Amino acid sequence: MRLDLSEVLSTVGMRISCPVEEPPLVDEYLECVAPVVGDLVFTNTGSALLIGGSLATEALLSCARCLRYYRQPLEVDIEEQFPLRARPMGPGARKATVEVEEEEDAQTGSLFTGPVMDLTDLLRQSLTLVVPLRPLHDPDCAGLCMNCGADLNEAACGCDTGREGRALSGLGALLERGEQEPNRAPGKPDALSQ
Ligand SMILES: [Zn+2]
Ligand SMILES: [Zn+2]
Repeated sequence: MRLDLSEVLSTVGMRISCPVEEPPLVDEYLECVAPVVGDLVFTNTGSALLIGGSLATEALLSCARCLRYYRQPLEVDIEEQFPLRARPMGPGARKATVEVEEEEDAQTGSLFTGPVMDLTDLLRQSLTLVVPLRPLHDPDCAGLCMNCGADLNEAACGCDTGREGRALSGLGALLERGEQEPNRAPGKPDALSQ
């Protein structure tokens, strides 16, 4: 969706609030499975256009440990600031139009075409930033067996040489030592990370 910001751009001190309810965004980086909802506030400070607010949606992500797809809630606070520049309408003209100055970014392109902002693009850029780098369907996801590939969230597979098993016995040993030597130096938790 495109938002015409002419009114706020031409009036210093103006502040407008804009409820957002956009259909789920789907592109190669992000697959939303719920509408993008929230509120945005646009403020003209004279020297800058401020965009504030918050957005929420749900994305379909694949768990980094067990690979299953799950719905991940995404929430993002928006705090953007674009310098404004007055541009005379013609030689000797008294009136001036105000334009948004933005850094040209090869990856994201520009958000504004004159006074019109590409809202969908703003939503996409903001939401992409809060997608977890290592999504987990559950913080305690047991993952897949390194040996047979079974989903260990469903049931134990019976493999006894799995990395998980060794990690767990390492944890047990650490816990026992911790109880016996409360003042020991912090150990390296390498055995526990996966
Ligand atoms: Zn998982
Ligand atoms: Zn197994």
